[in-house]
Amino acid sequence: MHEVESYLRFKTTELRDQWLNGNLSPALKVKVLLAAWWHFQEFKQPAVITSLIRDDGIHKERRAADLRTSHISVFAHKWEAWLNSVFPYQGKAGCNTALVHEVKKCIQCGKHFPVTKARCPKCGAIGDKLGTHIHIQVGPKEGKPDTPANYVV
Ligand SMILES: [Zn+2]
Ligand SMILES: [Zn+2]
Repeated sequence: MHEVESYLRFKTTELRDQWLNGNLSPALKVKVLLAAWWHFQEFKQPAVITSLIRDDGIHKERRAADLRTSHISVFAHKWEAWLNSVFPYQGKAGCNTALVHEVKKCIQCGKHFPVTKARCPKCGAIGDKLGTHIHIQVGPKEGKPDTPANYVV
């Protein structure tokens, strides 16, 4: 792991493996690293990744990451605002790069779902409030960087 990644911690070793070998969007890695840098400046501790590749939505496409905010509750929206000021979302109008989510965990099947939903979309059971995380995403219009032929290394 590169030194720059000392700004980051991972909730599980599986997430660490996804970060290193999961073929994530390069722009996502830049954004998450800068988010983690900001977190370190503000709180003198690394940021923690709680989710990367999942089987739903933009996480499935390897263009999204979730970072823990339960320890910094009132500052989560400050972090979100800073990220959105630095990284305009390249995709659907009205979408943002960063979004603070409040989530519940299904008491029956363990699926995470938004607090705005009363019941688990998978099995219909109720959920326990898990707290918040910040979701960071890369829009579909942001391409992967090409290496120009005249690039000097
Ligand atoms: Zn469920
Ligand atoms: Zn997410």
